[in-house]
Amino acid sequence: MNNGFLSIVKGALLHDIGKVIQRAADNPTDKTHREWGYEWLMENLGDNIAARAANTHHKEDDGVFDTNNGLIWYQSDNLASSERKGEEGAEEGKWHSEVALTSPFSKIRNPNKPGQNPPHAFLSLLKKEKGIDEACKKEPVVTRNDYKKLLNNFKQDFNNPEVQRPHSIDFLLMLFEKHFSCVPSITMKIYGGLNKDEVKEKHPDISLYDHSKITAAIAGCMYHYYKETYPEKCYKNELLKNEILNVQDNLEPYLLIGGDISSVQKFIYTITSKGALKSLKGRSFFLELLAEHIISELLDKLNLTRCNIIFSGGGHFYILSHNTPSAEEAIQAIKDRIDSYLFREFQGILQLHLESLCFHPGEFVNASRLWRGLSEKLELSKKKKWQCRLAEVLEVEMPHADCLKQSCEICFREDLALKELGKGDENLFVCEPCFNQHLLGEMLIEISKSDYPVLYKLPFAPQDKFIRIENAYYQLKKGWDKSMHLDAVAVYRINDLTVKHYSHPKSMYLPLGIYQHDNLKELGDASNVFGINRIAVLRMDVDNLGRIFSQAVHEDYRTFSRMASISRYLNNFFKYCLNTIIEGKEIDEPSDIVQRKVKENGRMLSIVYSGGDDLFVIGHWLDVTETAFDINTYFEKYTGNPFMTISGGIAVNEEKYPVYQYARDAEEGEKEAKKEKDSVTLLAGKSAEKFTEKFTEKCFKWADAEEVIERVKLFTRFLRRHDTFLAVDEDRIPKTFFYRLLALSRQFTEEGVLVLLKAAYLISRIKMRDNSEDILKMKEVIMVHNADEWKITKAAVLWTLMLMRRGGD
Ligand SMILES: [Zn+2]
Ligand SMILES: [Zn+2]
Repeated sequence: MNNGFLSIVKGALLHDIGKVIQRAADNPTDKTHREWGYEWLMENLGDNIAARAANTHHKEDDGVFDTNNGLIWYQSDNLASSERKGEEGAEEGKWHSEVALTSPFSKIRNPNKPGQNPPHAFLSLLKKEKGIDEACKKEPVVTRNDYKKLLNNFKQDFNNPEVQRPHSIDFLLMLFEKHFSCVPSITMKIYGGLNKDEVKEKHPDISLYDHSKITAAIAGCMYHYYKETYPEKCYKNELLKNEILNVQDNLEPYLLIGGDISSVQKFIYTITSKGALKSLKGRSFFLELLAEHIISELLDKLNLTRCNIIFSGGGHFYILSHNTPSAEEAIQAIKDRIDSYLFREFQGILQLHLESLCFHPGEFVNASRLWRGLSEKLELSKKKKWQCRLAEVLEVEMPHADCLKQSCEICFREDLALKELGKGDENLFVCEPCFNQHLLGEMLIEISKSDYPVLYKLPFAPQDKFIRIENAYYQLKKGWDKSMHLDAVAVYRINDLTVKHYSHPKSMYLPLGIYQHDNLKELGDASNVFGINRIAVLRMDVDNLGRIFSQAVHEDYRTFSRMASISRYLNNFFKYCLNTIIEGKEIDEPSDIVQRKVKENGRMLSIVYSGGDDLFVIGHWLDVTETAFDINTYFEKYTGNPFMTISGGIAVNEEKYPVYQYARDAEEGEKEAKKEKDSVTLLAGKSAEKFTEKFTEKCFKWADAEEVIERVKLFTRFLRRHDTFLAVDEDRIPKTFFYRLLALSRQFTEEGVLVLLKAAYLISRIKMRDNSEDILKMKEVIMVHNADEWKITKAAVLWTLMLMRRGGD
């Protein structure tokens, strides 16, 4: 990338740094944020051209309209902040730096009741060191000292001696995300003549990080667009004032690229149960890697930076690009290349859909057509699966000589040579891709113990285990490995914001949902943990997502920046926060029904996939079920918006139950829950527990599901806790108490029999006299005629019985 381009993008990324410096200053109004910023950058950045962006991005700035750089900064800032047309100028005069950022979800109205706004929710300026950042209902007071602290932390990181100068864009982007994602991009508050609610509407909801990143993305596009579209003028260094500021209606300088890898589900879950955990994890991670690989190849060929990645999650991504012939050529070339690679390697199971939509800068103000149009194009492309290679798809291939007697033991494929996969006492014969994905799963499990895992991208095959995609070799390491640094073309720091780890000039931050318990090596390890021997799969996703992006945000507010910021923040929950929530160690009160010390021990499960707006988790049934409740609780806290809800399905079964069946059962449960929304289906699918086939019996609104938990807790107080199971204490209750209660609940819910008398009799058999409060409570919940109560009781009894089973007995 040439220096002119880098200075423009770096300048755009840092153009508002003065806002933080000003808000931290004792004499903030002595200078404008532009002057504060320029001074600081001149002293610290070591790029005097980029530093000019700080005092050359505003219409009142000297020389802003005299150079093409100034024009690009001015215009990219405008387009990125189209949610606050013309408000910034007024900011200087009215000083309100105590304003906190509202949650990026605060413009999302009730998708079921148009016009109903959510209550206000705010983010604290300084992020927590540990745990999950929660939205608070009361606006936090932001003080000058908070800004001083923030600025100090930022400066310390910025000046870290381990990090090479000049700073790379990727490094600065990571710093901005780390420090400025809860900093309001604007702090003006009071508008004359507006009522209280109107003022609240005006509260800043776009962070300085998001604003700066989008500004840099647009500036990068402008640089290439104008250079390629007006080469003569650029060469002669003529001013492109009119071309930049007044883009003709018929011109479309920008391109939103959408990528989607299809058949992800089929690819991940259609495997046998042999070596399932490693294969699952490896396959899912492979897809993340593939998406990242495609994105970085695209950015490379388009000469753009990671600022231009608008979204990436779930084999799905959006990139903002310039619309020029060379860009279009580059996109097509990559598409063809990846297409042939995937076709060759995966028999057409995986396919990349790559579409783009060009647009006029006017659409930064309202991006709804863009988002909708692009997803329609992608849907259409998916319908035409492999049409261009129809002949090849239909060609019947002879099985490989190795496969005349047996196919790959993981994926059943039979056109490739089989390799032996050593797995202790049982050896598997598998195809090359399965072999590699299994290996990748193994590497992931190895690095999951590390706090600072690293992913290296290399131009040639390293000695150790690696994964190859096209001509790139990827290798996972537990931590920093100096011997690799000379050759690495990229160093991804997974979930790691520790600045001294960014010493390699090609380091970049990569959030990923990868949590896995240290002791979890094979699925069997998660089976026998507490109570009955069972594995569970949890699938969840955000309700009404389509509507959130189409109608739930008022048309006037659907700016490009806002839509990007909403999807970025949502993705952050699933890719980054989820690791912490699921592990359970650093959240306040993880669900822990039988006091297993989850906070100390973590959870026996593994994230197979998480990103975008959904997740797939597998592990011990109790951990999986409890974690579903925690995810719901923290999703609520994270969004601070009651109209954003999440639903899920949990499938519980035996260890040998095939993974694709688990996946299907959990998916079915999730679908059922999504009909109700804000719900969860417990024990979805044909569980070994013979619970009930009826979804109405197992699907609960979260509020009712919480009641189930409370009831399980009540029931367990009548039992005795052993190491890994609960048992009846016959001094307290009869041995068959809970079996009888289950029978009663079935009689009531399934046969409609009146059970009041029998319930009274059952209560009278309780021998425990020392805890009358619990007995009263027990009476209250089972001496009833209410179908909803019995539905809760039935699920809670079943759960209790599962806690009472001793392993596989
Ligand atoms: Zn700005
Ligand atoms: Zn295979």
